[in-house]
Amino acid sequence: MLCIQCAKPADSLYVEYSHGHIKLTDCAFCQQTVDKYVEFDGVLIFIDLLLLKPECYRHLVYNSFGINDNRIKKDWLGNIFHWDYLTRLWALLVAFEIYLAWAAIEQEQSQTYIQLPMTAAQYILHNLGPVQQYLFFAFQCTLDVLLLEFLTYWLINIFVNQVSFQIISRTILLAHGARLFPVLMLIWPYDSSLSVSAVQWAAGLYVVEAIRIVTNNSPLKIGLICAVVTIVKWVIVRYTMALFVTNFNWYQSVTFLVNEYRCLYIVLLYHLT
Ligand SMILES: [Zn+2]
Repeated sequence: MLCIQCAKPADSLYVEYSHGHIKLTDCAFCQQTVDKYVEFDGVLIFIDLLLLKPECYRHLVYNSFGINDNRIKKDWLGNIFHWDYLTRLWALLVAFEIYLAWAAIEQEQSQTYIQLPMTAAQYILHNLGPVQQYLFFAFQCTLDVLLLEFLTYWLINIFVNQVSFQIISRTILLAHGARLFPVLMLIWPYDSSLSVSAVQWAAGLYVVEAIRIVTNNSPLKIGLICAVVTIVKWVIVRYTMALFVTNFNWYQSVTFLVNEYRCLYIVLLYHLT
């Protein structure tokens, strides 16, 4: 655990007295309260999370689960696959992502104003049943999230500083929640897929800012790392899905990948003109 004001290590967040009374600890470095969020209501914490308050992120990532960072470093693999509170949250987030990805492709198909090249997802939608379609998007979203976590963790540790996998995973999870706003757009539909893309871009910026807060590094460096992760992830996920669709035909899969790129370009051009 650490002080949410100056990010220096702290021994405790509070001292507990009899009858459940607690006294918040003061930081030995900055003399301020180590973690004032200990006494905050969940709603207030959520609002500060949306407002990207650095202290709130530090509280949730480093202090709220009461897990010592050094212990995680020793057994990070076990912590990833342990079915804890965070893993359940990730599973819920991925379930929403699957629904959104599926709905987005179906919406794209129903918009007849532009002719789009055939992509792996559209091929699945045309040729397979609902169960296979669900499995397709489930695999795609799971791979997407795993690559996001591992690539970010890997690049941050190489180019920024040593941070445990669990810390990166928690940070992305907290910031990634913004990606669920398009669920509301499906309930109250907007006419343009551009609004969904805008929310996804905003969610991306949330991730950049959250990682910057937690790693205490320059926004440019973190932004570049996140941009690299996004591009590499996009290529790997799309190519892997194309491989499944084409029965591991390497050449045909490249054609599907090029079609994905052309789709992005056509949709972007359509909305900008
Ligand atoms: Zn401090």
